[in-house]
Amino acid sequence: MVSSRVNKINESATVSMSNKAAELKAQGKTIYNFGIGEPDFTTPRKIIDYAYAEALEGKTHYTPSAGIIELRKKIAEKMKKKNNIDAEAKNILVTPTKFSLNLALYSIIDEGDEVLMPSPYYVSYPDIITLNGGKVVTFETDNNYEFDFDSMKKYVSPKTKVFMLNNPVNPTGKVYSEKSLRKLSDFIIENNLYLISDEIYEDLIYKGKMFSPGSIEEMKERTVTVSGFSKSYAMTGWRIGYMVAPEEIIKASNKIQQQTLTCAPSISQYGALYALDDEKSVIEMKNEFNKRRELAVSMLKEINNLSLYEPEGAFYVFPEYDLNKKSNELAMDLLEKENVIVTPGSPFGAEKHFRLSYAASEETIKDGISKIGNYFNKS
Ligand code: PMP
Repeated sequence: MVSSRVNKINESATVSMSNKAAELKAQGKTIYNFGIGEPDFTTPRKIIDYAYAEALEGKTHYTPSAGIIELRKKIAEKMKKKNNIDAEAKNILVTPTKFSLNLALYSIIDEGDEVLMPSPYYVSYPDIITLNGGKVVTFETDNNYEFDFDSMKKYVSPKTKVFMLNNPVNPTGKVYSEKSLRKLSDFIIENNLYLISDEIYEDLIYKGKMFSPGSIEEMKERTVTVSGFSKSYAMTGWRIGYMVAPEEIIKASNKIQQQTLTCAPSISQYGALYALDDEKSVIEMKNEFNKRRELAVSMLKEINNLSLYEPEGAFYVFPEYDLNKKSNELAMDLLEKENVIVTPGSPFGAEKHFRLSYAASEETIKDGISKIGNYFNKS
């Protein structure tokens, strides 16, 4: 028997869909895959070459648990320059991004503490919170995914310890303005909460500007900023990211890292060190994603029974549909009838929605979205 803690955790929402897709592929069918949450590019060649050369030089051993000092210093510089966050190496822990969310929560919350977050949310948040002993409390945002502070107050209790934010948002593509984030920060200060700010899509913003709440002086001691290399540099398989936090939280998280992962993969740390100087690749990939975003949005806008929030960041669109069907059924229907993979909205906290990732080729976008159009025309 596995523990009750693990029994509370769900498996990935897309498992049955992937099984079905594999079955259809085996039958020789072409599948239009918009389910993927990662760039379809290979990591830029120069990053691979640099990491490879370092590996040949013998950088294949354990590193200090918080990460190699060169990388921690370079991340601190990047935080100052790009995010306006005043950080030093002692405020940085190098670790895979998703793991840093776990480390931050494990370091901050006690069993039963509440974690507040807006809906729709990144699919893994509820399970990560539960796994680390927290209680998930979600609240609805408005039609533009903005915060309604008066109604949010009702969700705060003496047990609320953390506010969990993702910006730009997976799955909606929303990018919060500095003004909204300053108001949110006031709310967090008033209610004496910590903020975990997941900024993994910070480089993929097509409209609007990145603002990091950790740059606000009064937020510094209560903010954990999380980011990484997966999305900006197409490095998902390298498992490398970082957290930026007050030294006390970094020390606590480093203790956990020592007793779990030991350290982030050494070769990936060298790749990340090089990546931070490779602004050019980020911009090239971002421009490519932007073209695809425009194509996907223009095609989806033409489809009956769909309404769309035009995404400003990340690489997802999250249309709402007007059919009498649950999102799980809709996604299975699209796969079985049109060979199209999308992710249902329900695990993101939003029924009657589906998430479409446009990190796919132009051809897939054209053909696949036409198929989605066919489906809605027939329904
Ligand atoms: N946060 C968000 C919002 C994400 O979308 C993802 C990846 N899908 C992660 C964290 C985890 O990133 P990584 O794979 O680099 O650990």
